Amino acid sequence: MTAQIIDGKAFAATVRAKVAAHVARLKEEFGEHPGLAVVIVGEDPASHVYVRSKAKQTIEVGMNSYEHKLPADTSEAELLALIAKLNADTSVHGILVQLPLPKHLDSDLVINSIDPAKDVDGFHISNVGLLGTGQKSMVPCTPLGCLMMLRDYHGDLSGMNAVVVGRSNIVGKPMANLLLGDSCTVTIAHSRTKDLPSVVRQADIVVAAVGRPEMVKGDWIKPGATVIDVGINRIERDGKGILVGDADFDSCAAVAGAITPVPGGVGPMTIACLLANTLTAFCRAKDLPEPQGLTA
Ligand code: NDP
Repeated sequence: MTAQIIDGKAFAATVRAKVAAHVARLKEEFGEHPGLAVVIVGEDPASHVYVRSKAKQTIEVGMNSYEHKLPADTSEAELLALIAKLNADTSVHGILVQLPLPKHLDSDLVINSIDPAKDVDGFHISNVGLLGTGQKSMVPCTPLGCLMMLRDYHGDLSGMNAVVVGRSNIVGKPMANLLLGDSCTVTIAHSRTKDLPSVVRQADIVVAAVGRPEMVKGDWIKPGATVIDVGINRIERDGKGILVGDADFDSCAAVAGAITPVPGGVGPMTIACLLANTLTAFCRAKDLPEPQGLTA
């Protein structure tokens, strides 16, 4: 069997088009634009690439983008003061603090200082609690993108066995909560899981979020299962730098029913979901109907 490729790049383009159409309508009807503020501290080159890409796509869907680039030696007090200002700014509907922060800054403290209604990354403890208890929240962008692709491919997910490999706060745990919300039977695996291949073999849906290049192998996959590969790993192969996922694409694609590629799978959906979350935050702030199909 050769798996169907779930094209995250194309799907992300449709999400962005929906967001752009909704933003255009809001402008016409209310004369207002959603605004997204992105805060970056320090010089991490990969983080700067992400922030530039986020700003570009924010503008392309017709939203206002506000970038705050702070030096690596910014104090916690200075960063918290900026977030307080953005919390109070009525032209800002979404706030994202690019992670990782320099080591002298307490990420939890900083994230929890964001107004939960503007927390478009969904990392604030209030949003984590709301998601965990099945209430309306801001949903972390990467797992939201995975859920959208799964719903689009399968329709109803209820009763499916899902194995999420990885238990991080930004991917694994919220992903498991979202799948539970869609009535999957969910297993969360991690570095202490015994006989991981046989756990993964039970899954109709495998979400690989381990941060280990090509770790999930084809002989771990139940024939016909869907593999969502969250991993982004830069490795050297044949003298060239390439991106690979946490699943071994070739062997998994030979067994799975469907699979997301890397690049071009989960990655593009993450920024599209950030834009969708900013639109959702705007609509909630203004008490307007929320766009359909753009949240959990
Ligand atoms: P973390 O490093 O925070 O978490 C990795 C998880 O994988 C941990 O729970 C860890 O278990 C588990 N793990 C590590 N090694 C093994 C193993 N040998 N067997 C089983 N489980 C293992 O990573 P993230 O969740 O932040 O990211 C995961 C991947 O997703 C990375 O490749 C990252 O680059 C990518 N990513 C992609 C995004 C996108 O937009 N596409 C966005 C965010 C992340 P334990 O808890 O026991 O240590």
